[in-house]
Amino acid sequence: MSTISRRHVIGGAGLLVGANAAEAAPNTTSNLTADVCIVGAGFAGLAAALRLKQAGARVVVLEARSQAGGRSWTVATKDGGWVDWGGQWVGSSQTRFYALIKEMACETYPSPNVGKTLQRGILDPNQYHRIDEDKDEAYPGSDIVKAVYQKLDAIADTVDVNAPWAHPEAARLDAITFAEWLRQNVEHDSARNFAATEVGSVPSASPEEISVLHLAWLIKACHGLGELFGDAQADRLIGGTQRVARRIAERLKNEIKFNQPVRRIQWNAKGAVVQSDGIAVTARRVVVAVPPVLAGAIEYAPALPTNRMQVTQRWPQGLVIKVSMVYGAPFWRDDGLSGTSFDHISVMGETADSSNPPEYSKTGILTGFVYSDNARKVAWLPAAERKRILLAEVAKRFGPKALDPINYHESNWTEAQWTRGCFTGFLTPGATTLFGSAVRDPVGPLHWAGTETATDWPSFIDGAIRSGEREAELVRRAG
Ligand SMILES: Cc1cc2nc3c(=O)[nH]c(=O)nc-3n(C[C@H](O)[C@H](O)[C@H](O)COP(=O)(O)OP(=O)(O)OC[C@H]3O[C@@H](n4cnc5c(N)ncnc54)[C@H](O)[C@@H]3O)c2cc1C
Repeated sequence: MSTISRRHVIGGAGLLVGANAAEAAPNTTSNLTADVCIVGAGFAGLAAALRLKQAGARVVVLEARSQAGGRSWTVATKDGGWVDWGGQWVGSSQTRFYALIKEMACETYPSPNVGKTLQRGILDPNQYHRIDEDKDEAYPGSDIVKAVYQKLDAIADTVDVNAPWAHPEAARLDAITFAEWLRQNVEHDSARNFAATEVGSVPSASPEEISVLHLAWLIKACHGLGELFGDAQADRLIGGTQRVARRIAERLKNEIKFNQPVRRIQWNAKGAVVQSDGIAVTARRVVVAVPPVLAGAIEYAPALPTNRMQVTQRWPQGLVIKVSMVYGAPFWRDDGLSGTSFDHISVMGETADSSNPPEYSKTGILTGFVYSDNARKVAWLPAAERKRILLAEVAKRFGPKALDPINYHESNWTEAQWTRGCFTGFLTPGATTLFGSAVRDPVGPLHWAGTETATDWPSFIDGAIRSGEREAELVRRAG
């Protein structure tokens, strides 16, 4: 990115016609000026701020939480290891994340993957098949599932990731839910349930609440179901994904203001005053890098154009509970198992081995995912009851040792005020065709970033980085 033109950098009070920072934010304790104000210090906001700073712009980042990383949150364990409560994998063609990992002098390691995968039977749900994925992924009923995935990939191939609303059959595909498509296309009940759980995990939505068009867009933008369920999980980060975010934050330590939830943005064609609880930032441009539903929760004065105002109301966050279970050792490997399991009948839909390399920690870490409809079933239960149910399910797959983790943690991001759900936000049926480019179009000086707005690896950290870099480049070009 070339250097931002200082000639175009206005900043300062008086930027707004008829309002200065003090008038716009009467209750704030400090007033700052910047070329660009960035809302949110997740990977999208951090990438935008880093690239703009590198291009010579004065930036201020306002972050609601007391730390950087957003949906990337790594916790250290007592023995020198780490657990990722949020995003953990990188892989495949996620080149922007790999580039940033390198730039921040962080390292990856291959995801542990020795032993066989457990697959709950499609034809006989009383069985768990042990699959050697290196040799043959086939199991009774896998041909049915494979055919469903091929059909979905074929639809995805017809979608333009930059303009899914321009698809010749956009209205039809955006009107039919994934649930209805499954009913029409998959006769076998168990195969239908399996596809609903596994493919539904991508938008982290129930099949009833997502359209085929939006799902197909997501699959295409993430390079197809093969990559999504395969190589995208290839690597992990030494020290966890948040280490990368923290290192970016160190480079922005004078620019990031923590514990500053943005409440209001007063804007006109020349710039904006961004008001958090304690700070008002007057800036020529603003990059709002938060989940769409939270972008919609900010007060805008004047109100945003109709389509932008409406689209954030049809862009809810998904629902997944991520469960981290730490054991003395990865005991499942003794039984020839990899720790990966797929189960479309139990509450816990999937597990994976998330252990650290042994030179850092000898513990065994299993990650479990409870997807949307199942998460809704158990979220209301008392914590102890939910834990009992989930551990019993894991024990059914990996044996009684699974019942006694030395550490157990559930991350329900839906209950996190500054995220409201994960992995990602999804557009509800009809929204893609009704609102089109309003998902990304800047409004005056206001730009929209965040993984949900990416056209390459949306819903992943890589997409978040791409979205931040995209808006930084647009801001830079605008001068
Ligand atoms: C459990 C889980 C597992 C995941 N697994 C993976 C994975 O393995 N690999 C992968 O690539 N991705 C994964 N993801 C997704 C990935 O973490 C996200 O796509 C990515 O981190 C999103 O980055 P972002 O910057 O777009 O948004 P966020 O990370 O949500 O950042 C937004 C930031 O804005 C702040 N904010 C919100 N509202 C305001 C406001 N009003 N004012 C100021 N600040 C505000 C928030 O506190 C947050 O820091 C996972 C996510 C979760 C939760």
